[in-house]
Amino acid sequence: MDNQEILMQDLATEEDEALGYSLRPEWLNEFIGQERAKEQLRIHIEAAKKRGDALEHVLLVSPPGLGKTTLAKIIANEMQSGFKQAIGPIMERLDLASTLTNLDKGDVLFIDEIHRMKGYVQESLYPAMEDYHLDLAIGQGPASDVVQVSIAHFTLVGATTREGLLAGPFRDRFGIRIHLDYYEAEDLQQSIRINSGKLDINIDENAEYTLARRSRGTMRIANKLLANVRDYAQVKGNGVLSHEIAEEALEFFGIDERGLDAQDYAYFQTLIEKFNGRAGLKALAVALSEDERTISEVYEPYYIKEGFLMLTPGGRVATDAAHEYFNYPVNSQISLF
Ligand code: ADP
Repeated sequence: MDNQEILMQDLATEEDEALGYSLRPEWLNEFIGQERAKEQLRIHIEAAKKRGDALEHVLLVSPPGLGKTTLAKIIANEMQSGFKQAIGPIMERLDLASTLTNLDKGDVLFIDEIHRMKGYVQESLYPAMEDYHLDLAIGQGPASDVVQVSIAHFTLVGATTREGLLAGPFRDRFGIRIHLDYYEAEDLQQSIRINSGKLDINIDENAEYTLARRSRGTMRIANKLLANVRDYAQVKGNGVLSHEIAEEALEFFGIDERGLDAQDYAYFQTLIEKFNGRAGLKALAVALSEDERTISEVYEPYYIKEGFLMLTPGGRVATDAAHEYFNYPVNSQISLF
């Protein structure tokens, strides 16, 4: 497999294949929840189709697992255009040039983790996004020359968990910016019901709700819990995914009523016991032997949403709610600044 193929590999499909079935909605009307985002997209897609143009560039922002990749594919489907996928951080200028020059009119180019793309690669995207051309340097030294290569009118769909890390001029080049929020339990329950149907799982309504409540507001986690609990029900139960079996399975997998697992407990135990309730990201990452980015982009957004954590100029602070939830006396000593 050459580099280009690695870049264009459809990683998201592998995740679906683990479940033995693609659970990814393909059309806007199958995408559950996120009503505002869908309405925004519907309007822009309809307008672009009426004009016969490519859709403006779209920036999708959310914590992981909320549907950015899914929406990017939906955009391509709804626009009846081609879909190509690339992974931001490993792209070099040449990879980008060959990707861009191979696009057809209207194609959707999806770049995941776009905030981690190298700065100079980002910059070489600017003229492509704005005027649909690329400046290519030919040769080296004094004899080098820059040639302009035209590229098709395409739509860049960038996904990021950290909008704040994008350079201002880059962010401004996206005509459409969409934020996805954590899902309500009702949305997750609806997804669990639909996916149980697709996967031929016999699940009762209470079990659907139990799984939904423990999915941390995240569709990917709801899918994963459903798959794990299905396996448990097949082996330990009579194949029916009842409320009792769901509870039993979640306890077996070490997932509590708020969807928190051993890793989350370790985070708060470390923050509260070791650092007295306040710590910097680096110190926490070392103490937990965990990658800083995983902590700040995957775990912490949910803690903040649940009211367990605050980011302050003086570091991460465990809130009173976190002390209570994880059974520690509330620490009134911690000032927030
Ligand atoms: P992200 O790109 O934001 O990390 P994905 O688009 O890969 O998230 O979504 C993870 C999984 O969750 C997908 O496989 C998809 O099946 C499911 N999913 C995400 N959003 C929705 C939604 N709104 N409705 C139904 N399923 C969804």
